Amino acid sequence: MKKNKILIVEDEVNINRLIQYNLEKAGYFVLSSENGAGALKILASEAVDLIMLDVMLPDIDGFEVCKAIKKESRLATIPIIFLTARGEEIDRIVGLELGAEDYIVKPFSPRELILRVKTVLKRGQPEEEEKEIMAVGDLKVDIGRHKVFVGKEEVELTSMEFNLLLTLLKRRGRVQSRDRLLNDVWDMNSEVTTRTVDTHIKCLRKKLGSMGELIETVRGVGYRLSEDDT
Ligand code: CA
Repeated sequence: MKKNKILIVEDEVNINRLIQYNLEKAGYFVLSSENGAGALKILASEAVDLIMLDVMLPDIDGFEVCKAIKKESRLATIPIIFLTARGEEIDRIVGLELGAEDYIVKPFSPRELILRVKTVLKRGQPEEEEKEIMAVGDLKVDIGRHKVFVGKEEVELTSMEFNLLLTLLKRRGRVQSRDRLLNDVWDMNSEVTTRTVDTHIKCLRKKLGSMGELIETVRGVGYRLSEDDT
């Protein structure tokens, strides 16, 4: 089996080495950079499966690096896990809004690190045999190919947004609480808060355009995908 290639972008040398050591021990191939420019340079020539990106970097900050990655179609689908400092909740929200898959709060245990990496890498690999297509009004979700269309236009979603939409779609007409969505879409081990759900719903609605209205807010409870498709 091919080794997954992970890029670490972290200027604190000790943390960078610690992550590298643990990932290599877990069987991953690791590339590392201590700044944003170096990371972008590596990405220009290497095919990477996952990026672990520190927010506070000496040159270009992690958010800017993330934006640059998401702008390039060749790189945009590479999942990103942000490394954030404890207490910086705003960083985590901004990170997720920029399309990151997850974040890890420093300091973290090696076990937590590997768990997050495995979860994120697994998300990116839809099961081949799944070929089902679900449709509501103009919204069409091709589950097997991980593609979403509104009318004839394809909508680019992050894998997290895709999972969120799929979960709502499969339970169409039923209210899903934020906690339930957190558990089912983000996995139990994630340290995310219910506000994360709101943030992702907001992005998802915007991307779905006219079909965004299908996602209804149920005040004080959560969200529901409308049964009314007209
Ligand atoms: Ca740093």
